[in-house]
Amino acid sequence: MDFGESSTGAADDVDAREAFDLLGHDIRLEILLALLEDWLAAHTKPKSYAELMDAVGMEDSGKFNYHLDKLRGVYVRQVEDGYVPTASATALYRAVLAHRPTDSVAVDQTLSTATCPACGAEPQLRYDRGFVTVDCPDCSEWEGFTYPFPQNGFERHNSEQLLAAVSERVRHEVGLARTGQCPACAGPTTVDLRPEQVEDDGWIELACDSCTFVVGVDPLTALLTDDRVGAALREIGLDPLGHDWERPDSQPSVSSRDPPRLSVTVTGPSGTVTLTLTGDLEFEAIDTE
Ligand SMILES: [Zn+2]
Ligand SMILES: [Zn+2]
Repeated sequence: MDFGESSTGAADDVDAREAFDLLGHDIRLEILLALLEDWLAAHTKPKSYAELMDAVGMEDSGKFNYHLDKLRGVYVRQVEDGYVPTASATALYRAVLAHRPTDSVAVDQTLSTATCPACGAEPQLRYDRGFVTVDCPDCSEWEGFTYPFPQNGFERHNSEQLLAAVSERVRHEVGLARTGQCPACAGPTTVDLRPEQVEDDGWIELACDSCTFVVGVDPLTALLTDDRVGAALREIGLDPLGHDWERPDSQPSVSSRDPPRLSVTVTGPSGTVTLTLTGDLEFEAIDTE
């Protein structure tokens, strides 16, 4: 599994630039932080103009009003009893909190409860640039995986718990992306099912049409949140919640190019499951033998 960064289109850049630009002032940031202090989702109690001005510690109402006005409609909404932050403001706040650059995390540890599927060595877990990487220190047979994980998640995790947390995140995010919804921005996602890539690497790519979310993943991992796949794997004696490298290799193949059809076969201790999928990863058939 791998995760890169794609670039956004020109239209998105303009919007993103304006959104960033609005925050380029201390007073505006103070206003947002003051509004977010008592955030209770849709139930957030509005702050009055006077309360807000007081919270920001400003006495010049002309200047205060100028900056409040800039934020209004984008990050701040005026309601009957005052002002509330918008969902955009909270989303931005969460992103900054998740990846706040002041706390640096250095992780380079051996995972004593896991083994490399190729050579049996204990895998290595590393963290760099916001990505968790698990791979083998002893061989290059197993490529392991890399996935983004917010620094904020490190506060309560040792490396084994961290691995479980990353795996859970991958399952949810990739599962959501596979259903056509971007886990980061809720925009539509597209499945890129290049036959050569499926045949060479066993990978498909799920990418958001509007933000930078993109993930390369084996088709079975993308389907694990589907009840039918979970049930079929259990039926042949495999744990759908186990780490993906602990399962026997699932062999994806392109059974038809036009229309695109993908076939995924995995063999467990008590049988074989074959999934037949359309180009959008919809099920055409699930067969268990
Ligand atoms: Zn190895
Ligand atoms: Zn997105």
